[in-house]
Amino acid sequence: MKKSVIVIGAGVAGLASACRLQHAGYDVTLYEKEKLPGGKMNRIQQDGYQFDLGPTIVMMPELYQEVFQVCGVNPNDYIPMQRLDPMYSVYFGDQDDDHYEISSDLIELTKTLESFGDEDAQGFLEYLQVIYKRFLVAKEHFLQKPFRKPSDFYNPSMLRQGLKLKTFDNADTFISKYIKNERLKQMISFQTLYIGVSPYSGPSLYTMIPMIEFLYGVWFIKGGMYTLAQSLERLFKELGGTVHYNSPVDEIVIENGQATGIRLNGEIISSDFVMCNADFPYAMKNLVKEPKAKGKYTDKKIDNMKYSCSCFLMYLGMDKKYEEVPNAHNFIFNEELEQNLNDIFTGKRLDTASFYVYIGSKLDPTLAPEGKDGLYILVPVSDKSCSQYEWNDETIQHYRGHILDALEKVKGFENVKQEIVSESYMTPPDFEQRFNAYNGATFGLQPTLAQSNHMRPQSKATHCENLYFTGSSTHPGAGVPIVLLSARIATEELLHDDKGILFHTR
Ligand SMILES: Cc1cc2nc3c(=O)[nH]c(=O)nc-3n(C[C@H](O)[C@H](O)[C@H](O)COP(=O)(O)OP(=O)(O)OC[C@H]3O[C@@H](n4cnc5c(N)ncnc54)[C@H](O)[C@@H]3O)c2cc1C
Repeated sequence: MKKSVIVIGAGVAGLASACRLQHAGYDVTLYEKEKLPGGKMNRIQQDGYQFDLGPTIVMMPELYQEVFQVCGVNPNDYIPMQRLDPMYSVYFGDQDDDHYEISSDLIELTKTLESFGDEDAQGFLEYLQVIYKRFLVAKEHFLQKPFRKPSDFYNPSMLRQGLKLKTFDNADTFISKYIKNERLKQMISFQTLYIGVSPYSGPSLYTMIPMIEFLYGVWFIKGGMYTLAQSLERLFKELGGTVHYNSPVDEIVIENGQATGIRLNGEIISSDFVMCNADFPYAMKNLVKEPKAKGKYTDKKIDNMKYSCSCFLMYLGMDKKYEEVPNAHNFIFNEELEQNLNDIFTGKRLDTASFYVYIGSKLDPTLAPEGKDGLYILVPVSDKSCSQYEWNDETIQHYRGHILDALEKVKGFENVKQEIVSESYMTPPDFEQRFNAYNGATFGLQPTLAQSNHMRPQSKATHCENLYFTGSSTHPGAGVPIVLLSARIATEELLHDDKGILFHTR
């Protein structure tokens, strides 16, 4: 008889683990508290407009495709992709020369770089070379493998590789060694915000994120990111898996140091293994009730850990198409970026902000009514652990007002306020309530040095057998491609324990 696995949570990591385990011969049942798959990769439908709720930027497409390939199907039948060129626009002000289009074509990119001067163009190429070397080390030795026991990290070979990562300076200091122009520096350091950490304090290694954009491109999945969530759910069902929505799990049942199932609506449902995709700090505090099974992750420890920033999002249905705006992905920078970021990570409400505007309907017109566009606007804000202000209607109107004032200064958006016909929002408390994101931190535990690699929560529970974790607060961290790696690692850990399979990444 097949062994059974219960997966808690249909976020992208839960869905990917469920597919991999079902394909590997387990009888997998998935329980999700919401009514749709995807977790933060959800979809908002309003008045004929469709918005991705959270992630929008597709990087490292081969990791998206891998899950489908491993399960024996053609990824193009599920998540057809196109490469974007230009990848995105960056705006620093309202003049034409304040606007840069960032190409993935080396010849076009070189023209943009040289507009900042030959020295900075050369500095940019040096930065790429240095960070690419570190990326190869991280990929080979850190990102794809679990750290079960201290000796998996504290051994001469790993320590040597760790030194090669040179993670001790922050992203901004590192970039400043190669590039002098403030705008160019900001253009290749803000991407650390993709994983919820400031470039002014986050480890320099995370400047590999823009490198990945430049060397591997930015992609679009037909229908938007939610197509991935839907397609993973479809694959899981085709493989024979079962999904239950509107099913908030109350507890991971643990007996004699072993996970034996879950408690849901007062009923115990047994399984041989439990794979938990609910956010690790939330799950350790609320779902793992047995004190011994928490190991070092006591409630106090969970509260003392550092959390990533959160996001405020506006989803706006517009009564026109934005033909004058050339790209779907747009970053609008504020002159006080550094001050804004310090304020975010010290809990202050912002009066001016840098933000991101995504027009998915430019890439797939079916996402909006004919002749219209939908605007997704993301503002990074403080998470609940440090926020000094409440989220209420007044806060929402405060941010809405400031952001739209700034947006109407950008060419093409001059009348944006009058063009809104439909709107909704997501705030940090919404992320906490809907998806159990601890502290509403949209990217989970912050990837500080002390919360990365062997020091980040690992997939295999340390003090309980048959229990595994996957998702953005576990190793290797946040972002869709990275949580897809987490799902791969978590599945391999379970297969290793159950069947003794040794994977090449171990
Ligand atoms: C606004 C925003 C923009 C982003 N942009 C990008 C981007 O452009 N590119 C990118 O690569 N990444 C991006 N990210 C990051 C990326 O979306 C996340 O890292 C990733 O989706 C996290 O997936 P996950 O499986 O770890 O967690 P989640 O999506 O949080 O999934 C966890 C699931 O568990 C469920 N759950 C929780 N508790 C229970 C319970 N008790 N019982 C049952 N179910 C439960 C939740 O409802 C949820 O469905 C963005 C994130 C946000 C929020």
